[in-house]
Amino acid sequence: MQVYKVGGAVRDRLLGLPVTDVDRVVVGATTEEMLAKGFRPVGADFPVFLHPKTGEEYALARTERKSGRGYGGFTFYASPEVTLEEDLIRRDLTINAMAEDDQLNLTDPYHGQRDLEARILRHVSPAFAEDPLRVLRVARFAARYAGLGFTVADETMGLMRQLSESGELQALTAERSWKEISRALMEDHPQVFIQVLRDCGALKELMPEVDALFGVPQPETHHPEIDTGLHTLSVLEQSALLKQPLTVRWACLLHDLGKGLTPEEEWPRHIAHEHTGLKLIKAVNERFKAPKDCQELALLVGQYHTHGHRALELKASTLLELLQSFDIYRRPQRFEEFIAACEMDARGRKGLEQRSYPQADYLRGAAKAARAVAVQPLLEQGFKGPELGEALKRERLKALKAYKEAATA
Ligand code: ATP
Ligand code: MG
Repeated sequence: MQVYKVGGAVRDRLLGLPVTDVDRVVVGATTEEMLAKGFRPVGADFPVFLHPKTGEEYALARTERKSGRGYGGFTFYASPEVTLEEDLIRRDLTINAMAEDDQLNLTDPYHGQRDLEARILRHVSPAFAEDPLRVLRVARFAARYAGLGFTVADETMGLMRQLSESGELQALTAERSWKEISRALMEDHPQVFIQVLRDCGALKELMPEVDALFGVPQPETHHPEIDTGLHTLSVLEQSALLKQPLTVRWACLLHDLGKGLTPEEEWPRHIAHEHTGLKLIKAVNERFKAPKDCQELALLVGQYHTHGHRALELKASTLLELLQSFDIYRRPQRFEEFIAACEMDARGRKGLEQRSYPQADYLRGAAKAARAVAVQPLLEQGFKGPELGEALKRERLKALKAYKEAATA
């Protein structure tokens, strides 16, 4: 039997990038031989094994055929007769369809190296269109390698468009989609992921709420870029430039969804978009079963980002309500993430990317002032139950009034 490194490990070594996860393919072996060598079987669907010592993945070379809708609709065929070339042809992109042996001899029947040099993401064969997840994968690779100058080949975009129009994207499970979306958002250029999905018509299928923002104008005085979709892409771009966590990036993507619902007569203003957007944010959250912290932050940022921008003008009582909504006493990190998302929103405006955001420190100071109110003296005064809660609120309000006066004096 022969063993080859395949996929990302080969691609990233040729690009001169660090290789973290190594996938291997085994040609000329049976499941029985693998088990006899001590490999541990994993995965109910494919003949994949873990190395007894290194724990790395070894898959038997296989072919596959489409037999139904979605991802479940595949039948696999693995046997010692399946060749390396046959295994490689079922892969998504030419740059992912190269193999190398221990001596670094490259097997590259579909010209992945040529496409690497030309910085092109190109499908391997027409069978690309059999798995709709590949639309998201290509968009994710475009987001990852945009900085190196990679773009998607026209013919591949054509297949992605065809897949999007066929309705097949609807057959993807929330789990598979979220895995790609979350990884794509954490790449260096997550805005490219959204842009590529939009260009091939997939965004309209996956997140019509985001797609609807393109072409919606905002007031030029606050938003020189005008278009709400372009603004969203810029906010996402800023979140990556400033290395924000997934929660913040997800909130950035969804913060303005309400603007897609504004009646045209009201353009370019978007009164109450913070509230109208909530049900859309909830729908997108649930469609992809986003993790709880992502869901929560997206909803809170959607509802309160305008409060964030107006922080210095807010009455002490409104400021207190904001802090209470975030439960800053038990969830300090979440409020920090809210502040970060607001700052990304402010920076994601054409020509204003470098403008300072004094609201951030002001909000941090307000949270600190509210947190500094001690419970002990109130307990000593005999407050308990709901009355204690009220007394605490009064003291916090007092503290915030003092803070506001001092900070804006
Ligand atoms: P990463 O650096 O993100 O791990 P990768 O290319 O190694 O990138 P994996 O998801 O680990 O990506 O998959 C390993 C290889 O398996 C890919 O390079 C590709 O050849 C193939 N592959 C994975 N998923 C698919 C798919 N849905 N359709 C076709 N080929 C796929
Ligand atoms: Mg990999």
